[in-house]
Order: sequence, then C-alpha cells, then structure tokens
Amino acid sequence: MSDLESISVAVSPREKFREYLSTQNKRLTRERDIVVEEVFATHEHFDPEQLVAVMTARTDGRRVSRSTVYRTLKELERAGLLRKVARANDRDVFEHDYGYPQHDHLICSECGSLTEFPADDVSKVVTRVAEANGFRHTGHRLEVHGVCNQCCRSPRRRHPKLDMI
Ligand SMILES: [Zn+2]
Ligand SMILES: [Zn+2]
Repeated sequence: MSDLESISVAVSPREKFREYLSTQNKRLTRERDIVVEEVFATHEHFDPEQLVAVMTARTDGRRVSRSTVYRTLKELERAGLLRKVARANDRDVFEHDYGYPQHDHLICSECGSLTEFPADDVSKVVTRVAEANGFRHTGHRLEVHGVCNQCCRSPRRRHPKLDMI
C-alpha cells in the first residue's frame, strides 16, 4: 500500500494510548487493548467495518463488540494515534497517525484504493501560501481524486454506481 518508511518512536502506540486515557480518567481495558493491538499490527488504510467484521467474528475469547470497536477508534483518533483519511466508495478510511511520516493520498474513485506520497513538496507550497496570508498553519491534508493506474488500464472498467442498478 505504501513505500513510506515508518518512523521509530520511543513510546509504543499502546503506551501512548494509555497515557491519553489516563488524562481522561479512563483505563486501558482488556477490550481497548485488543483493539489497539489489532489496529497497530499492520500499517494499512482500513475500513472500520472490516475491522468490526474481524473482531466480532472471533470465538477465541478476544471478541469485541461493534460499539466498543467504534468507541475505541474514536478515542484513538482523539489520542492522535489514528486519523480518518478519506471517504472511498462511501466508506470512511482510517490510518495510523503515529510513527508514520506525513503524507498525502491519491484516491481512486473506481476501486477506492489509496496511494500514498510524501507530503514534502505540497508542504512547501502550503507554507508559502500560509505565510503570504499571515496564516499560522498547523498542518494540511490533501486528497487527490481520480482513477488509478490499474483501473485506467483495466479492459472492463466498471463503474461502481452502475453495479447498483
Ligand atoms: Zn482504481
Ligand atoms: Zn496514508
């Protein structure tokens, strides 16, 4: 999904989450811990519904309810560990926002794939525009919409909206 290298971080996502929760007088419960472990097992953009499907189907005592998954995702977002990157194919897409360099996304409107690219060049433009406007910017997020290479080349390029009829 990406060529970007992870940044090594001194504090694990789980410890960072624990710190955040303690500022909210909350604990890292077993269920929250299971969700964090699942989310940070890989760096992938993920659809919360897919995560819910995996976590509610478990029969090994590590099953987590749908509402707990969603509640924990919201907490992880507030803790600065996750961010909602985009909507692709009418679904929210999340990714890690910790231990990972700043990047932006190309979003395919056909297959919903997200391609990452380093944000350096865009950051320079943003900084220049912000300075010219006396604007103190704290970050940016760029979504580039269109059709990915694979979908462009696909002989039977399908339009997802037509599939619904
Ligand atoms: Zn595509
Ligand atoms: Zn990304």
